[in-house]
Amino acid sequence: VEWQKRVRTSAQIHRSNGLSVLVTGAAGFVGTHVSIALKRRGDGVVGLDNFNNYYDPSLKKARKALLNSNGIFVVEGDINDARILAKLFDIVAFTHVMHLAAQAGVRYAIQNPHSYVHSNIAGLVTLLEASKSADPQPAFVWASSSSVYGLNTKVPFSESDRTDRPASLYAATKKAGEEITHTYNHIYGLSITGLRFFTVYGPWGRPDMAYFSFTRNILQGKPITVYRGKNGVDLARDFTYIDDIVKGCLGSLDTSGKSTGSGGKKRGSAPYRIFNLGNTSPVTVPTLVSILEKHLKAEAKKNIVEMPGNGDVPFTHANVSLARKEIGYKPTTDLETGLKKFVRWYLSYYGYNQDKPV
Ligand code: NAD
Repeated sequence: VEWQKRVRTSAQIHRSNGLSVLVTGAAGFVGTHVSIALKRRGDGVVGLDNFNNYYDPSLKKARKALLNSNGIFVVEGDINDARILAKLFDIVAFTHVMHLAAQAGVRYAIQNPHSYVHSNIAGLVTLLEASKSADPQPAFVWASSSSVYGLNTKVPFSESDRTDRPASLYAATKKAGEEITHTYNHIYGLSITGLRFFTVYGPWGRPDMAYFSFTRNILQGKPITVYRGKNGVDLARDFTYIDDIVKGCLGSLDTSGKSTGSGGKKRGSAPYRIFNLGNTSPVTVPTLVSILEKHLKAEAKKNIVEMPGNGDVPFTHANVSLARKEIGYKPTTDLETGLKKFVRWYLSYYGYNQDKPV
């Protein structure tokens, strides 16, 4: 049938030793950028996304159109659908899975806790089951999160630091994902790389994130809510530009090593890796706002309130020396430069009139 043909075409490799990658969450922010980067260097890419309405589905459709114009086919389906997954692994001998589909965001768990369990736990297990049963077994690279460091107070955060104090259900499901993937590495010989992304931003970003909604509100003359920690301390994030994250993802795929299969003999010989992918220089939220004001040539109406205890942590700060050593990761874009690129994209996508939904 037609869609199977499109899957095959999309998966075609156009360079020697190229990869063939199933990208879940391909119509998401990070998934779009990673898929296009892979395709541009000649790798085969097939996307999978359920196009849920956690945020504006028309933005996901627009990303999908961009992917299509780059020769990437995105299958509409859920990672909990074992039949679709089996079909995809049947059609294509994927060398890698780049798993980016998830319920993201920390605050939404107050309204919809089960969506985190559905995508980040049940969906992860369904995808791991399909991956371990595939022949050949792909190497598995997936997005964990800096949120696993939770209320850790030691900075900067290193991969070996404690992750036993999650501040949100989101963080708890990502932490669980690290344990679950470790099990699949141990029992089934899956090569696993977990990437702890630190607050990723940039063009085609997520409307639920602060830098994005601040931009919208500043342009519309609406107030923004700026959280501040207890004792009046500003919140800070290790904002990381999307192009740096993409390089980290590609570096991880390229060095991920082979899955070794189940059966006991080679058990444990496939790699299990965890890397921080951050920027290594945290910036406070008020500084983020003033950079936006400068680029937007408009003043923000700030509503400064104490951070409610609904999932946020006071600060994040990555130590990336392990990723630098193992995958050559080196972030190069500072917040000022990256936000300039974001604002340019935002204005071209939404225009000054802001009539598109967000
Ligand atoms: P995103 O929401 O833009 O992308 C996720 C995509 O997955 C969406 O397009 C969504 O429709 C899809 N999806 C969700 N559940 C699905 C399911 N059950 N089946 C199929 N598709 C599903 O988020 P993003 O910012 O691109 O994040 C990508 C990954 O990185 C996620 O795992 C996220 O948790 C993680 N992460 C992101 C950040 C960040 O700052 N953006 C930080 C840390 C970790």
